[in-house]
Amino acid sequence: MKTTGYAAYSADKPLAPYDFERRELRGNDVAIEILYSGVCHSDLHTARGDWGPYTAPLVPGHEIVGKVIAVGPEVEHYAVGDPVGVGCMVDSCQDCDQCDHGEEQYCRNGMTATYDSKDRITGEPTQGGYSKHIVVREEFVLAMPDGLDLSRAAPLLCAGITTYSPLRTWNVGPGSRVGVIGMGGLGHMAIKLAIALGAHVTVLSRSPSKEKDALELGADAVLISTDKDAMKAARNSLDLIIDTVPVKHDVTPYMPLLDVDGTLAIVGQVGPMEEFMTPPAIMGRRRIAGSLIGGIAETQEMLDFCGRMNILPECEMIKMDEINTAFDRMEKADVRYRFVIDMSSVDAPAA
Ligand SMILES: [Zn+2]
Ligand SMILES: [Zn+2]
Repeated sequence: MKTTGYAAYSADKPLAPYDFERRELRGNDVAIEILYSGVCHSDLHTARGDWGPYTAPLVPGHEIVGKVIAVGPEVEHYAVGDPVGVGCMVDSCQDCDQCDHGEEQYCRNGMTATYDSKDRITGEPTQGGYSKHIVVREEFVLAMPDGLDLSRAAPLLCAGITTYSPLRTWNVGPGSRVGVIGMGGLGHMAIKLAIALGAHVTVLSRSPSKEKDALELGADAVLISTDKDAMKAARNSLDLIIDTVPVKHDVTPYMPLLDVDGTLAIVGQVGPMEEFMTPPAIMGRRRIAGSLIGGIAETQEMLDFCGRMNILPECEMIKMDEINTAFDRMEKADVRYRFVIDMSSVDAPAA
């Protein structure tokens, strides 16, 4: 199937148009016309080579919402016309203990990422959502719940599940005290989801300038991390901190905010961190943990939860040819809070 989109050709060049082929449908494949594609920090990091070299051309995008346009003969759960989503994974071994209990993101044999990965059967590079179409095996297609505004739902597929999964892993519910560091694409979803789960949410910010926005997103409190007295007064006041900062930083000042056995879960920065001091971890059995997206079943649970509670990301809609400006703005944290590409801004390729 012919399709078209935007690709990264090298780390130092802007994204540019790219015509390419999607595979012919296998028996268990779903073909999707992409309507909306979220713009994740990972797309920027990958395209700019921050995480190492990649096979070009590379089509980023792993926050995908669209509608089914064809299904293979063995597909059971989807039909033409269904609104569907695709997140950060498009395949896994489906055979190991991690896949068996629904955590395909930790597949023993390595999950297949939506882009910059290799198809398990043909070895061809996988290409992501900055394109008109995608073909994905049924097991990795999500059902979009009725009533959820599709034009705003795409960021749930990465930012949503990346923050929902640690909230569920550490049993956040009514009475939980949750801190959120960073108020970008991930952070603003962490606030909304934690509030919806019943938690008391404190946003940790370096400057008071974010206070109004944090409260507007539903946060209960804002703690200014440069205010020494306020930080001291807030010791032991949190059960879980979701750290969404996507660059190298120091977690040491935040650790005393956790209660005994509290956890700081890193979901933003993939790479080196500042050296940290162990006393706050030792004096209170506090943990630093990491967390990667969520399994397919948990992603569906998150989508259904957002459908029931009408939780939607705050989005700024762009056209496909505005992606390079969007990348530049995202690097400066100049977005509230997620760019979403309206894929109707790309003409379908001639058949
Ligand atoms: Zn992402
Ligand atoms: Zn597996």
